[in-house]
Amino acid sequence: MEGKDLEYISLGELRKQVSQKLGFFPDALDIRKKEVKKLATELIQSQQEACAQTPAKEMLDKLLAEEENLDARQEVYLITISHVIQATLPDGCAYADLDSLERKAVAEAVLNAFDDPIPLQANAAGRPRAPRVVDQPTSMGDLIVVYKELHDDDTAHFHVVVKLVKTFRFKRAKQTLQMRHLLPSHFSCSHTLLWSAVRYGYIGTPKKPDVDESPWVGTPSWAGFAKDSATVDLFELSQEPFRPGSWRKRREEKDKEASRKAARTKFEKLDLTAIMMSKHLWSKDGLIAYAQDHGTAAMQRFVHNNQKQIGAFIKEGKEWASAKDNADFEAIDDWSLVNQAAEKACPHGESVCLYKKAVQEIFERNQATLDWKQLAQALRAILSGGPSKTTPVPFLVGPSNSGKSTVVFPFDDLYTPKRVFHKPALGSSFGCRNLVGGGKRLIFWDDFPPVAFAHEKTVPVSLFLSLFQGKYSEIQVSQSFNDGNEDVRWNRGVIFTCKQEGLWETTARVSAEEVRHMRNRCREFSFTQVLQPGALKDVTACKRCMCRWMVEGAAAQDASPGLQPLLASPAREGEGGGIAGFQELLAAVQLPVGAAQSLAEDLEELGAVSVAELTSADWESLNVWATLRTLQKRRLLQHVGAV
Ligand SMILES: [Zn+2]
Repeated sequence: MEGKDLEYISLGELRKQVSQKLGFFPDALDIRKKEVKKLATELIQSQQEACAQTPAKEMLDKLLAEEENLDARQEVYLITISHVIQATLPDGCAYADLDSLERKAVAEAVLNAFDDPIPLQANAAGRPRAPRVVDQPTSMGDLIVVYKELHDDDTAHFHVVVKLVKTFRFKRAKQTLQMRHLLPSHFSCSHTLLWSAVRYGYIGTPKKPDVDESPWVGTPSWAGFAKDSATVDLFELSQEPFRPGSWRKRREEKDKEASRKAARTKFEKLDLTAIMMSKHLWSKDGLIAYAQDHGTAAMQRFVHNNQKQIGAFIKEGKEWASAKDNADFEAIDDWSLVNQAAEKACPHGESVCLYKKAVQEIFERNQATLDWKQLAQALRAILSGGPSKTTPVPFLVGPSNSGKSTVVFPFDDLYTPKRVFHKPALGSSFGCRNLVGGGKRLIFWDDFPPVAFAHEKTVPVSLFLSLFQGKYSEIQVSQSFNDGNEDVRWNRGVIFTCKQEGLWETTARVSAEEVRHMRNRCREFSFTQVLQPGALKDVTACKRCMCRWMVEGAAAQDASPGLQPLLASPAREGEGGGIAGFQELLAAVQLPVGAAQSLAEDLEELGAVSVAELTSADWESLNVWATLRTLQKRRLLQHVGAV
């Protein structure tokens, strides 16, 4: 009578079905009505006793009663695999035997169902086929935890927590589990957060006291790659991260509960922090006024009793609020982020990514003036250590619609807009104040004419020259901070773009010499070919594909040492081109490229016309001098006859 609800079936129907099951006519048992009734009553009673609700079963029922939302698209799923779940299997197949099934085998089946689902058309008629071995380096799974638990009749069922690398629908995975692996499954859509799904199977509660003592944990390492699953701490993962909104809600629920029982409510410092964060109350007056107007009596008492410390509480609240973001920010450097993003799959689809296509076309059209590999290498250099004497700022220059901005636009997505310092408004006096302790990763000034900004003193020449050489620079902030100035040293990425026309023309306030020095802080990459009007309009920025060309281009450039940018290009300003005897000096002294450029810049700053006019004291006063080796210094002084 499998699948029949014995509490509702009539005795006549029961006799009929049993008779047929045994191969008799439907009324064959009618002559033994009384005996059948007695047996059936005993049977139903014993069944009811066996089904008595235990706390754990109640939880499981609750979980399984939840309707599956087939359109759900989640990153985390809590999957239950049990014979209790009704499912249609392929003809002639029986459920897999869960009692003898290992946790690891269940994990493999679940991952396989996501990585290699059965094709849509074949879902009903498809025969089960052998699971493909999970050997590809990119699995959908990021973390998988398998709990094996027992029903009250000692038959096994499984709970599987799977965290995918991105959000994904589960419909086909469910079908695959059923058709290929013969596992009936239920996907819970209420446990969308990893902590709550992991906690369900790992932390016992009064309602579900029994938990699996030896769950199976898999990370990509188990499927053949990096991480070690032994380092996964399920207890840690079972804890709910602090979120001010939900903390506050819970406090409110407790307050309501206390009110029902006419009990005193509590209020502690973390409650205050949660309110500060969720209501954005960051001033002493604002917070006290809120407590007076909207706080519970307990909150008013707390704020009043601690009034002297409210300022300190606010400061600590701010620390508490920004710690996670700061920790993430510090944990990984800017170039590593590029590498990480480059390793991911293109979210738009490699073959149809409009950004990728556009960039390929832009680089191809401009190959006469632009070497994308050198651009990649220059970007890597500046993202790794910031601007310096030897690392000029990459400056993408070209007419409108040449694609110069398009190729670097995805930086906003890569580092998040909050961490990118965008161009200040022309004419603003504190335009650069956000560089002071602003937690920025990148200065990205799109359509930035340095001379015009210097003319308006938004980015004065002196600031431009020191900031973009990686030196300490004084930045004007409003008078309410210190004396209105802050010292800042920028050692992260910088990228400029601008139109070519009139870019380096002098103004009444910016002299030719100043322009020359500013220009020497940049390395220009020329875009000259204009694309079809509107060709770039629909291009969606793709950080992954941008990171990919940077990583690949920089590596390709490393591999071709003959094409070192500074050696390949003819000497120009900043390379000592205007100083008599400089090239001969380089040939005699044999300086490395970086030192040679620094030397040229130092000489230009000094205003030298010829290498012969400097005294030995002049040479020793140069910034680059300290970085030279003893024999390089000696050869240099000998060559110029200063010894
Ligand atoms: Zn892409």
